[in-house]
Amino acid sequence: PYDVLVVGGGPAGASAAIYAARKGLRTGIVAERFGGQVADTMAIENFISVKATEGPKLVAQLEEHVKEYNVDVIDNQRAARLDSDNRAITLDNGATLQSKSLILATGARWREMNVPGEREYRGHGVAYCPHCDGPLFKGKSVAVIGGGNSGIEAAIDLANIVEHVTVLEFADTLRADDVLVKKAQSLTNVTIITNAATTEIVGDGNKVTGLNYTDRETQQSQHVALAGVFVQIGLVPNTEWLKDSGLDLSSFGEITIDDKGATNLPGVFAAGDATTTPFKQIIIAMGAGASASLGAFDYLIRHSDD
Ligand code: FAD
Repeated sequence: PYDVLVVGGGPAGASAAIYAARKGLRTGIVAERFGGQVADTMAIENFISVKATEGPKLVAQLEEHVKEYNVDVIDNQRAARLDSDNRAITLDNGATLQSKSLILATGARWREMNVPGEREYRGHGVAYCPHCDGPLFKGKSVAVIGGGNSGIEAAIDLANIVEHVTVLEFADTLRADDVLVKKAQSLTNVTIITNAATTEIVGDGNKVTGLNYTDRETQQSQHVALAGVFVQIGLVPNTEWLKDSGLDLSSFGEITIDDKGATNLPGVFAAGDATTTPFKQIIIAMGAGASASLGAFDYLIRHSDD
């Protein structure tokens, strides 16, 4: 068995694996797709000490760094089940991997609108992370899709940077906290439209130029000209496979962890976007991976005869 088996090969998992291997622990990492969300990212300008990079480049560097160490990398394999009693992970292909400790770092995915143009212009105007991509739209007009807390927070955040923000909410009211709604309504460069069903992201073949929506009251189709669309309709943790494992999950399906990345199950740690950590960013996921790994080390030196 491994000393530490990491599930997930994004920034959290890669960092956890490196920290574990540097402790001389027998370390494995199993990932459905090494790199995780970073592989889908274009410009990255907030990975501190690296002024600007690109997702695929950072993924290659992560992989290179992991391979500096004696880590078993099992890529293109999905974990299907956690057996917490035996600290075993069963993969989709039926194989079972055993480990004295586990670090779960299966990340999250942004909920998509599933309208024409969304996939096509992802990274070319369609964005999901205001902290990441907001500055790319400085002085331009953007839309935020979704009037929940994350959508309204995004609108308030973006209003400081961009020329104008249009918020489109499908329902007839905003679901965000009152204090956020009031703040957004007070901003002169934010327009809020409710009852708006976004139907298409429109572009010129290279980048976004606008979007179409249906006014659900009048059934009329409307067009808004803009340079960017921030989709804020939910971040879904990749934890469906853990539902019956005995692991504590929040009401959003996030793995509940403490300051050391420990879960409610002994020897099982977690890190990154799959957890209850309030902010989802590369640099934060890497820090959390390091914490969880040191947490696992701490656990192992106390339970060496388990
Ligand atoms: P992820 O990156 O989601 O990695 C999860 C890993 O787990 C993957 O390897 C995945 O294949 C694997 N996995 C999932 N389920 C299973 C399973 N059942 N079995 C095995 N493996 C599994 N953050 C920034 O800081 N700056 C940015 O500029 C930035 N831009 C972004 C742009 C986009 C388009 C997106 C989508 C995100 C962006 N983010 C950015 C957010 C950042 O990518 C995430 O916060 C970060 O990747 C989270 O790392 P993670 O390791 O927790 O999870």
